Amino acid sequence: MTKRLMTIVACGLLLAAIAAAQYTPWLYWTFLPQAQMDEIVGEASGETAWNTIAEINAFNRERFSEEFKGNFLETQVISRKLKSYGLAGIDIVTYPGGPAWVAVKGELWETKPGRQKIASIRDMLPMLASGSATADVTGELIWVGRGTPKEITDAKVIGKIVVTEGALMMAYGAASQQGALGVISISMSRPYFDPLQMPWSGIAQRRRPGGAAPGQPEAPAPPAGQPAQPGVAAGQTPPPAPPTGFAFQLPVREGDILKRRLLANEKITVRAQVESKTETADLENVVAHIPGTDPAAGEIILSAHLFEGFQKQGANDNISGSATILEVARILNTLVAEGRLPRPKRTIRFIWGPEFSGIGEWVKANREIMERTLCNINMDMVGEWLTKNKAYFCLMRTTYGNPHYINDVMENYYRYVGEGSRERIQNRSGAAGVPVRIVAPTGADEPFAYSIETHYGASDHEVFNDWGVGVPGIMMIAWPDQWYHTSGDTADKADPTQLRRAAVIGAAGAYTVATADAAGAETIAGEIASNATRRIGHTLAVAMEALNVATTETFADDSAYARGIIEAAVVNEKETLASVLELAPGAASLSGHVTRLAKAVDGVGAAAIAALDAHRAGVARKLGVKALPLALSDLEKRAAKIVPRPTAKVRAGGYREYQKLMTALPASARTDFPVAGKGLALANPGEVQLLVNGRHSALDIKKMLDAQNERRSTLQAVINYLEILKLAGLVEW
Ligand SMILES: [Zn+2]
Repeated sequence: MTKRLMTIVACGLLLAAIAAAQYTPWLYWTFLPQAQMDEIVGEASGETAWNTIAEINAFNRERFSEEFKGNFLETQVISRKLKSYGLAGIDIVTYPGGPAWVAVKGELWETKPGRQKIASIRDMLPMLASGSATADVTGELIWVGRGTPKEITDAKVIGKIVVTEGALMMAYGAASQQGALGVISISMSRPYFDPLQMPWSGIAQRRRPGGAAPGQPEAPAPPAGQPAQPGVAAGQTPPPAPPTGFAFQLPVREGDILKRRLLANEKITVRAQVESKTETADLENVVAHIPGTDPAAGEIILSAHLFEGFQKQGANDNISGSATILEVARILNTLVAEGRLPRPKRTIRFIWGPEFSGIGEWVKANREIMERTLCNINMDMVGEWLTKNKAYFCLMRTTYGNPHYINDVMENYYRYVGEGSRERIQNRSGAAGVPVRIVAPTGADEPFAYSIETHYGASDHEVFNDWGVGVPGIMMIAWPDQWYHTSGDTADKADPTQLRRAAVIGAAGAYTVATADAAGAETIAGEIASNATRRIGHTLAVAMEALNVATTETFADDSAYARGIIEAAVVNEKETLASVLELAPGAASLSGHVTRLAKAVDGVGAAAIAALDAHRAGVARKLGVKALPLALSDLEKRAAKIVPRPTAKVRAGGYREYQKLMTALPASARTDFPVAGKGLALANPGEVQLLVNGRHSALDIKKMLDAQNERRSTLQAVINYLEILKLAGLVEW
């Protein structure tokens, strides 16, 4: 290391130390009293959760026919354990599903010049791509490089089996059209990290659930190998014709040998024997709950998708989330049953099922439960051994469209575990080394890298966050996962310590919400207000930076944008504060408390805007332009007067049902009110709808979109989108 480099590294470390030094090394606080935390932490068992993962998904296992006739192994294990833990209301709720592809045989043998096995599902289940059709063929191998259409055409693949190091689906599409018998793919996005892992690939085209709203991306596609959200799509889209060919995959370590033989112009003939069948897979959900003492006080629901697919499996994605909410159920039910924690006034409910499709059906069928449910904690991929995966344990917050105190409640426990699990130079002398030791006896003895993040969807919290449901939901997720959606996602990549910590955070967060009264709500409101100063401070930094990079041409627009995102952040914080009122409806002390804090947040916002204005004057001076007072354009004046509110049709049908009114609109709606292209920036597809609340104007909605997206939306596109929602009868003003 050179001296100059050492200086740079030293400066970097110094900056990091300054940033970290902002945390008080002597205060690790939680909403729950320490005595209750001690019970939760002590009862939590990472090994118990790990054992559940191992029982269901220690390895990629064969799917047996009797599982399709009766219950899947996942369902059996979860419901049996719930019974042994003594949970209330255990039920297996089944909805009609759709076809599921199942591998019966997948053998690929070299017959000339040698005789040797190249691939078999007996060795690794994902070696046969899902969707492969039954076949028994012998053919010559032909190398097609990356497998682009041109490479495949040039190679003349008719009657041959193509070998590619490109993406399987792309190569299969072109090769099968040109008469190839099948495909062998040696493709992996992380070949140097783990040359043994293979992606879970499929060659069947996937169906999408019902049509997306104008201006919106389609709903998240099901993971490869999953039977394409059968419940949601039922009767809407006819299934595409099944593939008539097959595809094998080889891990890079083995596949590279085959590749080098073919590049050396060796003539290799193989025999492929494939047998597959189609089963009918029902959507199985498991539900249970811990009854609260006051049915009128509302509920909280924890969710995790129990099925990644039927062929496709994953220990971390997502048996780990399933095992961890199961452990939360065990911890809280045990503590309440043994009188170690008071029974909460609110019911704590749990649901496991197929991602989106199964859980979506249950939510749609239980609208009266959703009406009284306050919020959702969704766990998806929570068990990863963090250092093996180079991962953080992330809290994905709700959007501005679903402002809720659950964000700050969960952040409290993330911080408690995260900051408490670090040895600091100031307090290194304790016997445990760290202030809050939550380590499983067989798990990692490591710090807890955590991160509080903005919203990300693509899991079951989105079922709850949906406009037709209206239950704010957060997601707990470890990211990245180096074995994500691959054959390597097996139980050995999960860490008992991480599982124990995730269970503690989930249990403490759920119990906090389930027990909070007026006094508890005031404490939560206080923490929202203090976190708000930090979040508004960050928004100020974003706003300042927009001005720092402004040019003379963009200065006016950037000024409006910069102020707008601060105003939007303040609105969001005040709405988050107001959300605590549901914890003690009618409590005058609480509403007075929230009103006073909201006023203080206004003051924080005003101070941020004053700082921005001071900075703006400096930027204007540098650019040689005038920092004119911000004035509304005619369009902005019009938009400020449009204050849409949702109609009864939004919630009438529950989860995603309102989409049918959007789909039924005549094509002229989209041409009269264009929103396509770059007009709307929507990291969260349903965000405009969610921001319609009878208080936000169209101008507010634009600012709230701008505050949450990298790209800015145009005001006209926001208005147009609202017009489309109005035509559909979903909003009015
Ligand atoms: Zn998942």
